[in-house]
Amino acid sequence: MAEFTMELNDEQKEVRDWLHGFAADVIRPAAAEWDEREETPWPVIQEAAKVGIYSLDFYAQQYFDPTGLGIPMAMEELFWGDAGIALSIVGTGLAAVGVLANGTEEQIGTWIPQMYGDANDVKVAAFCSSEPDAGSDVASMRTRAVYDEAKDEWVLNGTKTWATNGGIANVHVVVAVVDPELGSKGHASFIIPPGTEGLSQGQKFKKHGIRASHTAEVVLDNVRVPGSCLLGGKEKLDERLARAREKARQGGERVKNAAMATFEASRPAVGAMAVGTARAAYEVALDYATTREQFGRPIVDNQGVAFQLADMRTSIDAARLLVWRASWMAVNGKPFTAAEGSMSKLFASETAKKVTAQAIQILGGNGYTREYPVERMHRDAAIYTIFEGTSEIQRLVIARTLAGVPIR
Ligand SMILES: Cc1cc2nc3c(=O)[nH]c(=O)nc-3n(C[C@H](O)[C@H](O)[C@H](O)COP(=O)(O)OP(=O)(O)OC[C@H]3O[C@@H](n4cnc5c(N)ncnc54)[C@H](O)[C@@H]3O)c2cc1C
Repeated sequence: MAEFTMELNDEQKEVRDWLHGFAADVIRPAAAEWDEREETPWPVIQEAAKVGIYSLDFYAQQYFDPTGLGIPMAMEELFWGDAGIALSIVGTGLAAVGVLANGTEEQIGTWIPQMYGDANDVKVAAFCSSEPDAGSDVASMRTRAVYDEAKDEWVLNGTKTWATNGGIANVHVVVAVVDPELGSKGHASFIIPPGTEGLSQGQKFKKHGIRASHTAEVVLDNVRVPGSCLLGGKEKLDERLARAREKARQGGERVKNAAMATFEASRPAVGAMAVGTARAAYEVALDYATTREQFGRPIVDNQGVAFQLADMRTSIDAARLLVWRASWMAVNGKPFTAAEGSMSKLFASETAKKVTAQAIQILGGNGYTREYPVERMHRDAAIYTIFEGTSEIQRLVIARTLAGVPIR
């Protein structure tokens, strides 16, 4: 019988400790400064590149860890350091995964190195799917990609919004409509190479949290890219569209949605980010509660404070277990019959919001100031219940999966 263990192996512990050291020594000390500056922390990304944390190799190694725990472990440690800076470090990975998942070997080899640059000249990449009128409702996307057969070029027009690294990226991955009749099944992804004419940054958003991460609109005005920039290639796209049309003719609304399965596998990574932020705030609160004295004793001696800490830690551990379970399921090809990926993201992100608020309460007036990091962590935590599908959308996906109702 296969051995069951809940312990990380020696190699995983080594990677975790190494990442923790980087998060503690490089990310955490820079967190307040870049939060105030509301700018991409290029020097920190460069440090991460120098030690090998900002690279495809590192990401791929964790991605292919056979236990599935490589990515969640890495996310938890980096986001424990600081969510805004960590998102600046891993944001490129989100675009790279889009290419890894759908691109040909040639596309992977050509574009992913250009997404990262090198330690002397670091670059970032952006994944652009959301639009002003297509957030949760991805199927209402309007950005259009039209094939110009004579020139073997695709022409893209539309406005993307909320793109992490949008406009400052060397390489943009853009999702666009190629067949409006097919809803989300009529979408395809395109590489927009560096310096392509017609792509520009729109508004850069001033945000509540994760302020060290750049978020902006991306405007596509008659952007022309070579046919080779369609991820996966034209032949594969034509086959996929033909299958989707056939299924639509047969009343294909009830077919399983492959995109949803991809989300189930990627959402635990966001859950792990939330666990990192929650754990960071909990640790500050625990330390404060054991050292701050009122009424002649540490405040943790009051059950009202101690029980909050007990609940915080219990929720964080439960969130991590859900994240690890879903990550293990993804790597082992287990079917997500109860939307376990969405479950992990929902619980971990709600936990992060709650735990960071509790941390502010435990620190009292100090918790409410920028002298202590928990107010920043609370602002940062709010993003987890919004991006990669809001909490409401996670609940909708879980409920529909349980009920066997199709997810549109
Ligand atoms: C900082 C940041 C970074 C981001 N990075 C990226 C990125 O890199 N690339 C990218 O493509 N996108 C990115 N996003 C976009 C993000 O994924 C969307 O904001 C998110 O999907 C929600 O879409 P929306 O903002 O349009 O909200 P809406 O979809 O308009 O939702 C508004 C509210 O209505 C609720 N709601 C909507 N539909 C339902 C329903 N059917 N049932 C119940 N409630 C519902 C939502 O839960 C939410 O509470 C980012 C967003 C932010 C804020």
